[in-house]
Amino acid sequence: MSEIAVKKILVSACLAGEECRYDCQARPNAEIIKQVVEGTAIPVCPEQLGGLPTPRTPAEIIGDKVIDKNGNDVSKEYQNGAAEALRIAKEEGCTEAYLKAKSPMCGVGRIYDGSFSGRLIAGDGVFTKLLKSLGLSVHRVD
Ligand code: SF4
Repeated sequence: MSEIAVKKILVSACLAGEECRYDCQARPNAEIIKQVVEGTAIPVCPEQLGGLPTPRTPAEIIGDKVIDKNGNDVSKEYQNGAAEALRIAKEEGCTEAYLKAKSPMCGVGRIYDGSFSGRLIAGDGVFTKLLKSLGLSVHRVD
């Protein structure tokens, strides 16, 4: 008898308890951790996958670029990381993602406005935009 395929979701690694945020912190979410342990959620940190170090200087989206607080353009690392995380999503057969709110990479629906002042505006992070453009269903986890 063939195995029944288990539906997997893609999740932000920081929600799965990985200390991968710019400040080396995690944002653990009990339900997501449970699904990772059960093997039904695949954690990815697209910023790390793009080659950015941890800890790293925080960055925000400004226009069509991602700029860190020191003024460095990290758009390429963001694009590379989003592409690599997408490759993993495809490999694992994920069609749905649960991503960390407000991040310039994983944010869904609301992101920081580029002034590094904590103000939010409507918008998606780089990875979220890529997933949505390919028709994946993306959910925000606060
Ligand atoms: Fe979390 Fe996504 Fe930022 Fe990585 S890129 S720390 S997974 S919000």
